[in-house]
Amino acid sequence: MKHVDQILHADWIIPVEPIGVTLANHCVAISGDRIVDVLPSTLAPSRFTADTEIELRDHALIPGLINCHAHAAMTLFRGLADDLPLQPWLEDHIWPAEARCVDRQFVHDGTLLGAAEMLRSGTTCFNDMYFFPDEAAAAAIEAGIRAVVGMIVIGFPSEWAANTDEYLQNGQRVHDRYRTHPIIHTAFAPHAPYTVDDDTLRRIATLAEELDVPIHMHVHETQREVDQAVANEGRRPLARLAELGLLSHRLMAVHMTALSADEIGEVARAGVSVVHCPESNLKLASGMCPVAALLEAGVNVAIGTDGAASNNDLDMLSEMRTAALLAKGVAGDATGAPAAQMLRLATYCGAQALGMEADLGSLEPGKLADIVALDLGGIGAAPLYDPVSQIVYSGHRDQVSNVWVGGRRVVVDRQLTNVDIAALKQTADHWRDQIRS
Ligand SMILES: [Zn+2]
Repeated sequence: MKHVDQILHADWIIPVEPIGVTLANHCVAISGDRIVDVLPSTLAPSRFTADTEIELRDHALIPGLINCHAHAAMTLFRGLADDLPLQPWLEDHIWPAEARCVDRQFVHDGTLLGAAEMLRSGTTCFNDMYFFPDEAAAAAIEAGIRAVVGMIVIGFPSEWAANTDEYLQNGQRVHDRYRTHPIIHTAFAPHAPYTVDDDTLRRIATLAEELDVPIHMHVHETQREVDQAVANEGRRPLARLAELGLLSHRLMAVHMTALSADEIGEVARAGVSVVHCPESNLKLASGMCPVAALLEAGVNVAIGTDGAASNNDLDMLSEMRTAALLAKGVAGDATGAPAAQMLRLATYCGAQALGMEADLGSLEPGKLADIVALDLGGIGAAPLYDPVSQIVYSGHRDQVSNVWVGGRRVVVDRQLTNVDIAALKQTADHWRDQIRS
């Protein structure tokens, strides 16, 4: 008989690895921040004693959703400028508002708001790109959510750094500070091919090897980005990134809406992960990522929400559904992108993109206990034939009842344990008044 900290019993456990499996009347045993075992609930009393046992009737347990592309602090710009294409939206609205408002406090408060929204919608880990990543890390720790904070690099000065050297130095300081932290991880986050120069990108490729971290970058977000690069430099951004040594398993290429068949093959051979952000792409009319073709070619595809200024929520359940529907529509094939595969994109494939699949992305012994309980007892999920189908095609963030990050229960019966929602709402309103004026 072994003693563990917690045992979570649920009607269904969807481990994601192996794909397509649903375990009825099972439980997850947890010690510290790791999963010890996944087993039938009837066998648990003969194998484990526990400090806490939780019965989750009518619930499914899934691995925590991994939001592979976010600018969490941009929740404070939610609804500020809608119904515009990417470049005018960025250049005339978002960048000027950022130049006016973004400082340490903004990033802290915005990231806390984003973290609260993500935890309440079943995201346990987000891959972030924004200024002041140390503040984003502090807010993530405060909320209790796992974060990969981006060592951002962009070719213009901000409050965070004056030039690319300073961006790199400041980023590496953040990496050093959090290198052994249990829930904070780092990645390089060069903004996009059109905002970072060749020399800096070469240095990032080398430094990423040295520090053993991923590279998180917007790539081929629109056809216009590709056309302008061809007009200005005579080649497509992906070709330039290949020459600079960036195409590898370390690269998380976000968006990738404009891709040729050759480029899909090249990305597959190089082991690049593609991060698909369907709602942001649709809202900005940026183009559509050829998800079915990428999957067919063997590319690892993960899912992200992008920032709340272009989505406008950080809800991975709705993002997963949009991704599934869009993939079918774009490919003209209703059999493509089946539910179990889409849930895998939002969990295991996200972990793989981050280089963390040994620790995250599925409910298996030895992995970190990042777990989400979904209440499928409501009428919106009735009758229930297949929990995976229900979660992907009719799931809703209000069904997220309990969330654990590294074994810590950070959402209890739909309430955040570490965040004061009333105070957070007041802070958001305060920022709205500041940003508007
Ligand atoms: Zn983005």
